[in-house]
Amino acid sequence: MFQPLADRPLLHTTSDLGRVMAAARELEAAGRTVYHLERGEPDFDTPPHVVEALARAARDGATHYPDARGVRELREALVAKLARDNAIAAHVDDIVVTLGGTHALFCAFQALLAAGDELLVLSPHWMAVPKLVGFVDGARMRTLPAYLELMSGAWTDAQFADALRAAIGPHTKGLYLNTPNNPTGAVLTRGQLEAIAGVAIERGLWVVSDEAYEHLLYDGAQHVSIASLPGMAERTVTAFTFSKSYAMTGWRAGYAVSPPSLRGAMGPILSFYTTHGVFPSVQLACAAAVSGPQDAVEAMRRAYDERRRSMLDGLAGGAVTAPDPRGAFYVFANAGAARGGRELWTMIEEWLSWGVAVLPGTAFGPEYGDWVRLSLATRPDHVAAAAKLLRERAGAGTGATR
Ligand code: PMP
Repeated sequence: MFQPLADRPLLHTTSDLGRVMAAARELEAAGRTVYHLERGEPDFDTPPHVVEALARAARDGATHYPDARGVRELREALVAKLARDNAIAAHVDDIVVTLGGTHALFCAFQALLAAGDELLVLSPHWMAVPKLVGFVDGARMRTLPAYLELMSGAWTDAQFADALRAAIGPHTKGLYLNTPNNPTGAVLTRGQLEAIAGVAIERGLWVVSDEAYEHLLYDGAQHVSIASLPGMAERTVTAFTFSKSYAMTGWRAGYAVSPPSLRGAMGPILSFYTTHGVFPSVQLACAAAVSGPQDAVEAMRRAYDERRRSMLDGLAGGAVTAPDPRGAFYVFANAGAARGGRELWTMIEEWLSWGVAVLPGTAFGPEYGDWVRLSLATRPDHVAAAAKLLRERAGAGTGATR
């Protein structure tokens, strides 16, 4: 039953994002304008003081092998940040600096899962998660559609806890959550997180909490880290990244905070199994990012919020409808009426022919064949123009009520 990675299907699937981006590139090569609502990458530059800190650190000689777990100065800055922003009381030895949030999740799944184990994943979920779980040969994931239900108020916290209990099987080892959520923009409330915490404690589960979008919040939504709830720090690995808050996707920098019981796993996985740590000058620039002025983070948040409003206002009254995202920078929209009886990809290709590139909902779970993800991480005039096109054209001719 064990297979080398080379033979595992997870390495041989083409990504939906790759397919849409390739089609968009072809259109652009033919001179067409494409509104890029498919990519989840900030279109802002990294704040200049962070870039300066990198240059300074490199000039000052931070160019040698680092402590594989992370440069101490950064890990100390992160202890302060975790206390300030997340109410997590972390020991400096329980933080590892990783090559982005993706690598933090990879290390967490390697540390926690074995063959035969199951990870319960709330969905819709970020598309890399099945692959990251798939790197543990013989581990499986089971999904529980939850974010749209929680956003719409379809579940009380108690009903959510019951749904979690019903989804847990004898092999469930842990649960993966992502708040603010990619793709829906759901921000789990303290009550919803307490429901998860209660069930995790009752059933002895680990929690892997992906908080990549922790600073991108709208309409007064508050981000709560589940590791800050009573009894949770000892059973939670939290993954963070510099990619989104500071527009640093290419720097490949993130971190994980975990309990002392994993101290003997997370550091060694990072140092011997994947990489001997992250470029130390990058880490010192990351220390400047978390410890320095945060006004660039707030400026980007405001810009995404304006685009979010523009997208929701632009779609209003059309066949494509969406719950208001309270976090992250996506709108997860229901296109069931616009799709009519067609295959989802047929509709995606039609929208591409209008110059609107989006991701199919099925990238985030097989249940989401009526949904699409619209990314706000692109030019505001393109967000507005794409919303207008969708309101005017999507669903025309399919009998959708408008
Ligand atoms: N988690 C979620 C939910 C994400 O959307 C992303 C990036 N798209 C990541 C983690 C990881 O990003 P990175 O590896 O760039 O830190």
